[in-house]
Amino acid sequence: MSKVNPFEMAQQQLLDCAKILKLDQGVVDILMQPQRQIQVSIPVKMDDGTTRVFQGFRVQYNNALGPYKGGIRYHPEETIDTVRALSAWMTWKCAVLNLPLGGGKGGIICNPKEMSKGELERLSRGYIRALWKNLGPDTDVPAPDVYTDGQIMAWMMDEYSVINGKNQFGLLTGKPLIVGGSLGRGDATAKGGLFTLREAAKELNLDLKKATVAILGFGNAGSFAATLVQKMFGSKVVAVTDSKGGIYDANGLDIAAVSAHKKETKSVVGYKGLKTLTNNEVMALPVDIIIAAAPDEGAINEKVAPTVKAKVICELANGPTTPEGDAILYKNGVHVIPDFLCNAGGVTVSYYEMVQNMYMHYWTLDDVYAKLDAAMTQSYHNVLKASKEYKINMRQAAYVVAVARVVEGMKIRGWV
Ligand code: GLU
Repeated sequence: MSKVNPFEMAQQQLLDCAKILKLDQGVVDILMQPQRQIQVSIPVKMDDGTTRVFQGFRVQYNNALGPYKGGIRYHPEETIDTVRALSAWMTWKCAVLNLPLGGGKGGIICNPKEMSKGELERLSRGYIRALWKNLGPDTDVPAPDVYTDGQIMAWMMDEYSVINGKNQFGLLTGKPLIVGGSLGRGDATAKGGLFTLREAAKELNLDLKKATVAILGFGNAGSFAATLVQKMFGSKVVAVTDSKGGIYDANGLDIAAVSAHKKETKSVVGYKGLKTLTNNEVMALPVDIIIAAAPDEGAINEKVAPTVKAKVICELANGPTTPEGDAILYKNGVHVIPDFLCNAGGVTVSYYEMVQNMYMHYWTLDDVYAKLDAAMTQSYHNVLKASKEYKINMRQAAYVVAVARVVEGMKIRGWV
């Protein structure tokens, strides 16, 4: 994780937007801080007979427009500042998509790679036992995020159901299909981002069939994006990176073979004997599109931004660009599809999952994708329109659209 404080970054972005929208001080004061921050200690019996206590967080940023919504991360370097920033971005993410949801985020400081399945289950159930009173289908609805998955969601949903004495599938989203998950949730973040890329390409007259792509971060969203960008548009993926470095082949990479190599060796590095590049070197490659999918907040800073040659950056990860980096990219004419717009496909399908759980009626994959496409396309154009109207960059425009909605909700509810 980089050294920038992600929450300070999120606050700076918000202040920037407050100026554009000329918000009253009282409104800004509410929006600058989470409504509630909870820290819990979770004791877990480890396989070796010892007990270890883990620290867990849930930050409930703003619920003016609906229940708090957002993932739970398991990460050894988790900090409250990261969770706070991510909970703020969830608020703007749901608002820019016009979802009837607020924003929240959770995390546990732990290293899931070093834990057994049993330990992870006990930790996940412990998190719910510590927090269940503050969660619920119309209170706060968690989801998977970095190093959490459908299995963890299923354990959490089960624990909450046991405590409540009845099945509560709607407690959280990103569940396996058999217990109330939605079709299409798995690759929804990547797919949603690519729908916005398609719209951006139309705007910029960029022929996606001939475009070259670098993917930063070959985790969940990044590897789905690599496969999908070829399948949906015929673009050529020429570079990919992970935490150990990057690889580049101007002739294009065989993504299935790179995935197999990563599965075997735990990294994309070393694939076919290609030279290992640093992330910053990959950022400066002569490509048309960069898909930033690495969980590395603030990586595109004032040093990296001037080296970018790409025409479009799709921010599939949260917070990859610093405000200084943003200003440089905008000046250089790089079209940034900002994180909480670009990666909103995940939470959008999470919202569809909530609806399906409430109705006890499940949709087809085609239904999910069609609705997701319409929602992402509409939101991209709303943001583009604001960016032209106010003559501001796409991130500022996304803030303007999102924050204006949250403020309208707060005002009509009488908070300010
Ligand atoms: N963790 C995902 C995100 O950051 C999804 C959140 C959700 O589905 O609630 O957008």
